[in-house]
Amino acid sequence: MKVVLLPALTDNYMYLLIDADSGEAAVVDPVEPAKVVEAVRKHGARLTTVLTTHHHWDHASGNGKLLKLMPGLEVYGGDDRVDAITQKVSHSDTIQLGSLTIRCLFTPCHTTGHICYYVTKENGAEPPAVFTGDTLFVAGCGKFFEGTAEQMCRALIDILGSLPPETRVFCGHEYTVSNLKFARHVEPDNDVIKKKLAWAKDKRSNGEPSVPSTLADELTFNPFMRIREKSVQKHVHQSTPVETMGSLRKEKDGFKVPKE
Ligand SMILES: [Zn+2]
Repeated sequence: MKVVLLPALTDNYMYLLIDADSGEAAVVDPVEPAKVVEAVRKHGARLTTVLTTHHHWDHASGNGKLLKLMPGLEVYGGDDRVDAITQKVSHSDTIQLGSLTIRCLFTPCHTTGHICYYVTKENGAEPPAVFTGDTLFVAGCGKFFEGTAEQMCRALIDILGSLPPETRVFCGHEYTVSNLKFARHVEPDNDVIKKKLAWAKDKRSNGEPSVPSTLADELTFNPFMRIREKSVQKHVHQSTPVETMGSLRKEKDGFKVPKE
């Protein structure tokens, strides 16, 4: 499988997912349709599918326009509020894209209809990928606009956390540097965070994305995936993963990201 990262708006990412065997392609959150059409042509792909992570305008508002430019696309999402939706999906539904299987993971919290898309190649011939929208970011997670700490625990730990560790994480925004500054504040003694922050700053100053990471990596530096760690629980004076998740999110919502 080939994943082409397409930067959009200020800090959003759209992704073109191409099955190398058949040339069939899907696009994730095509908020800037013209850029998507150009990428599809450039890669000689056959776009059939739109995967929408959630209904927010910076993810879903390009669906209708893309459908006008390329009629016949199937538009998937987990929420009736998704622009131009043609197929509503729920947990564990699968979509076939040539030799790739896309499994829908229902991860409500940021919005009540949020879906992550988990992609595997037949026979496990390549490492899987997961498109996490605004549920999981590199070193962070989305705000709880329509959900609870309990739901985010289920999403990050039970659902995403049980995928193979080598799964590549493609998220909805480039928030890595500010997320890692918060992670460093939570765990000042975690050297993995410091190294990842230096790496991410370097990438960004060269105009390069910090995406993808892997689930194995996230478990080493993402405080929201480390809510079972004593060091993280101690920082927010909590003793259970759910309470730690809630306190961490509250603290991050008010966190002033240091300029450096
Ligand atoms: Zn959102």
